[in-house]
Amino acid sequence: MKTLTVGLDVPVGRLFEYLAPAADENDIGKRVIVPFGRRTAVGVVLGIDEPSSFPREKLKTVHCVLREAPGFSADDLRLLRFAAEYYHFPLGPVVMNGLPTRLRRAQAQAASRDVEYVLTDLGRAQSVDALPARARVKRKLLAALLSQTALLASEARELASSAAGALRELEAAQWVERRAATRTARAIAPSAPPELPPLNDDQARAVESIRGALGAFRPFLLCGVTGSGKTEVYLRVADAVLAAGGQVLLLVPEIALTPQLESMVQARFPAAALVSLHSGLNETERMRNWVAAQQGVAQIVLGTRLAVFTPLPRLGLIVVDEEHDASFKQTEGFCYSARDLAVVRASQRGVPIVLGSATPSLESYQNARTGRYVMLELPHRINGRPPRIAYVGVRGTGTSFDGIAPQLLDAIRKCIERREQALVFINRRGYAPVLMCHSCGWLSGCHRCSAQLVVHLPARELHCHHCGHCARVPEACPTCGNADLSPIGQGTQRVEATLNGHFPNARILRIDRDSTRRKNAWSGMRDRIHARDVDILVGTQILAKGHDFPHLALVCVLNADAMLYSSDFRASERLYALLTQVAGRAGRGEAQGEVLIQTEFPEHPLYAALRSQDFGAYAAALLAERESAGFPPFVHQALLRAEAPEVDTALELLAHAKEIGRGLDDGVELYDPVPATMVRLAGRERAQLLVQSESRPRLHAFLSAWRDLLAAEKSSTARWALDVDPLEL
Ligand code: ADP
Ligand code: ZN
Ligand code: ZN
Repeated sequence: MKTLTVGLDVPVGRLFEYLAPAADENDIGKRVIVPFGRRTAVGVVLGIDEPSSFPREKLKTVHCVLREAPGFSADDLRLLRFAAEYYHFPLGPVVMNGLPTRLRRAQAQAASRDVEYVLTDLGRAQSVDALPARARVKRKLLAALLSQTALLASEARELASSAAGALRELEAAQWVERRAATRTARAIAPSAPPELPPLNDDQARAVESIRGALGAFRPFLLCGVTGSGKTEVYLRVADAVLAAGGQVLLLVPEIALTPQLESMVQARFPAAALVSLHSGLNETERMRNWVAAQQGVAQIVLGTRLAVFTPLPRLGLIVVDEEHDASFKQTEGFCYSARDLAVVRASQRGVPIVLGSATPSLESYQNARTGRYVMLELPHRINGRPPRIAYVGVRGTGTSFDGIAPQLLDAIRKCIERREQALVFINRRGYAPVLMCHSCGWLSGCHRCSAQLVVHLPARELHCHHCGHCARVPEACPTCGNADLSPIGQGTQRVEATLNGHFPNARILRIDRDSTRRKNAWSGMRDRIHARDVDILVGTQILAKGHDFPHLALVCVLNADAMLYSSDFRASERLYALLTQVAGRAGRGEAQGEVLIQTEFPEHPLYAALRSQDFGAYAAALLAERESAGFPPFVHQALLRAEAPEVDTALELLAHAKEIGRGLDDGVELYDPVPATMVRLAGRERAQLLVQSESRPRLHAFLSAWRDLLAAEKSSTARWALDVDPLEL
């Protein structure tokens, strides 16, 4: 009888042991079903016959080891172990988090792989014409089977909805056989690969140096202005990896970007098996795609943050597009950075990684400056025309205009007259950020959060964008009874209404999380934009990233000032990146791109820097500031976050934690506990304690010791969690 060490999805810092009759080394990484308390749980085998302090006779026996089903390889586990250690999060939940939800449940034991049908010798001897004309479905299926080696069940269903019945009959006649799929679904008649544009010199240089690094670990920072053809560089390198039989992992920040990228990549590599992995997929799709990657069937895996853990036995290249994007960092629970783990993964697996951005994070930029990453630059747009940025000062104009300055309206009018498209960017959805009573000053606030409720029309509702709370717009002020309540400020819905007033004949499309919530809504909108069925786009940052709309000439930015002054030292870096992204949507096709930013502070240094579009110079200035102020990337940070029903309880816990931590290592600095910027969230109150050190190893040694001491404390009503390399302070 052997013992297995098992990781389970329970939030404790230890693993569990079970007896297993005929276990061996090969079981490591496999899923197991075990008794846990009164229930049955799924876990992952992490070790066999490891030294233990448990008396053997107290151990329970596993129900079964899922040996035939997909699990993790030693390589996969290496990454997961690293992640658990680095982010100081229990290994069990980290490992389980790496599985698609379906495979975390005890019920779904067998991963249902797609099945495929192939002709038997008997089947191959048949001809379509020998079948009667009325056997339409069978004729279709036979034709498809004769023209290719195998037909997936999902493809058969697309050929004819009654394919399943016909296939059963063909199986009974021993014309076809069924087996586990050896590839993923794709268009049945693959089109020929498109004609490739010749690379420009900068692109050619970048492709050449990355290709030259295939087969070994090497991190590249592809620093390319918007519209400089970064995607083309990724694809050319991917081509070489696929040709050599490798798998490519392509990480992107937003789900909204994946369908578009997916069809573009698929069109480029018509014969390649491509799968995507993001939270927009249902559980079955996600499991199927994960399994396809894990079995080496999928050649290209396109995904958001969580895809960084996807098992890829033949991994040859990792690409992280828009590497500066904050969505690569998980901000709750297991607070990992998918970008940083991608670099670790590339180094563990000995493959190159390309981090691409027009505005890299200062962390990556500094790594490139110091030579840890190879810097590749694409300083010019493909069309040779960077967008022109100008500012429209609106200080002192007060309420004399309805939120959009006359100069902007003018530019929009001219743009439409030229039959080009305009984008009005405002970083807030809904109608107005708050509802106010003019008689007593009441503001619509969320009772569960330190935040205001946003007015949403036409449903006349108030929404909390933080906790999801939703209420009807009240008939009268809840404190004084005054019936005259007004929405204050601008959201996308209000801007849309205003523009409708000014341009009654224009076709206006609002694009935000509300208007794109329905499945496939966004792809319909994208088609309309490309077909020039739209004159004015009103949108949030969903529109800022990565899109290539060739007819978009003008970008107007409304509320950039709201992000200008913030206590977070990363605020400028973030705003510069966001505005560069938004501005980068203008003038990607034939027309010259024009960007108008409405602001009360046209002389602000950030705006001046943005106008010259010289990221290198701006980054150097910010880095100098960070160095003299002792901020990342020159120091390494972690946050201890605490939450409780009352902020005082959270602060007490942190004060105690600081006591415990003091003196563990004098090379690690502990700050005073402070309430979080947004104290209340969903009915809990939050506080945080910052720790930092110039030495990463010392910070981590400290965190390990500190974490163990904290875990040993009897907890009050407060909960705590560590956030390593936090992005928001
Ligand atoms: P980025 O990701 O850097 O913003 P894209 O990769 O989206 O830029 O490229 C911008 C546009 O230029 C796309 O339409 C792309 O197809 C096109 N493009 C890229 N490289 C070339 C090239 N060498 N020649 C012609 N067009 C190109
Ligand atoms: Zn009132
Ligand atoms: Zn709320």
